[in-house]
Amino acid sequence: MERAVLVLNANYEPIHVTNLQRAVCLMLMEKASLVVNGSGDLHTVHESFPIPSVIRLNSMVNKPRPRISLSRREILRRDHYTCQYCGKQSQTLTIDHVIPRRLNGPHTWENVVTACSSCNHRKGGRTLEEAGMKLHKQPAEPPTNAAYRLGGYLNSYQNWETFISGW
Ligand SMILES: [Zn+2]
Repeated sequence: MERAVLVLNANYEPIHVTNLQRAVCLMLMEKASLVVNGSGDLHTVHESFPIPSVIRLNSMVNKPRPRISLSRREILRRDHYTCQYCGKQSQTLTIDHVIPRRLNGPHTWENVVTACSSCNHRKGGRTLEEAGMKLHKQPAEPPTNAAYRLGGYLNSYQNWETFISGW
């Protein structure tokens, strides 16, 4: 039961991704309806039940848009897995604080970038000016729209694209 299920609000806006077990639970409680069948059915002794890939809540929920968590994985994704100093794609990417921690540089979207290990090493604990280095792009908080938030799932769940794009 590790399959992911896309949950849409009553107005079809994608809200979040849940697991199969929770999705089936929502359907059994009649809080959500099947939109797309993943593939096939779940069989119990007495009945069979479609395996959902996309479900829709039967009544509208008002939720503030979740923000993207400031995790290593999300920082790499925002920066397209490339070093923001030299533009190289590398297997050994690190997270660099533009204003270094020792100068009280904050751990925020605006102050963290992906850096390859050699650029990170070269910059050391210095500021951009001190190190004579430049950023390709000013770091910022990534967008919170569904296409960005859930875009990472599209490799595995291509059939979600029509539900995610445009939100
Ligand atoms: Zn680099």
